[in-house]
Amino acid sequence: LDKALLMDGDAIRRAITRIAHEILEKNEGIEQLALVGIRRRGVPLAKRLQEKIQEIEGTTVPLGALDITLYRDDLTTLDVQPVIHKTEVPFSLHGKKVVLVDDVLYTGRTVRAALDALIDIGRPQVIQLAVLIDRGHRELPIRADYVGKNVPTSKREVISVRVMEVDGEDGASIQDM
Ligand code: 5GP
Ligand code: MG
Repeated sequence: LDKALLMDGDAIRRAITRIAHEILEKNEGIEQLALVGIRRRGVPLAKRLQEKIQEIEGTTVPLGALDITLYRDDLTTLDVQPVIHKTEVPFSLHGKKVVLVDDVLYTGRTVRAALDALIDIGRPQVIQLAVLIDRGHRELPIRADYVGKNVPTSKREVISVRVMEVDGEDGASIQDM
């Protein structure tokens, strides 16, 4: 099993720091800002962005979580059923600038389902997307506003993302399926 390291703990930490600054720059501060992580590993990444923004601006922005699973009906990716298991957004989305956070962006179908869920819950002013890794192969017109690392992949490869809070270590690597 060939496994190449893409990001170590320091690289992930620096990417989070950069993205936090980019979020603040693009949104001109923390006014109306909110973060929503996609389970599972998007949530600890969103929490780290919240902590970094707190460190920079001295204010804690609201943090929520969405739990979405894609069920692929067959071997193609054309027919997927997104199932929203749980939404934990304990604040009003009305007028918010929401930054969705996930570990890996691939076809875009999870994000599409997340957008539906967020729009159902409330009426955000704007929704942006932050991902640690964009591995390409989009099947929908969705792109990330903030990217830790762009990693061109083949569909046979898979990215392993590990975060301390879930896996006991930080790292991202690429491997053959
Ligand atoms: P999409 O819906 O864009 O096809 O896939 C994105 C979702 O599936 C993300 O929530 C992500 O966690 C997961 N995912 C897709 N591809 C990969 C991958 O190569 N590695 C990891 N760790 N997760 C992936
Ligand atoms: Mg996921």
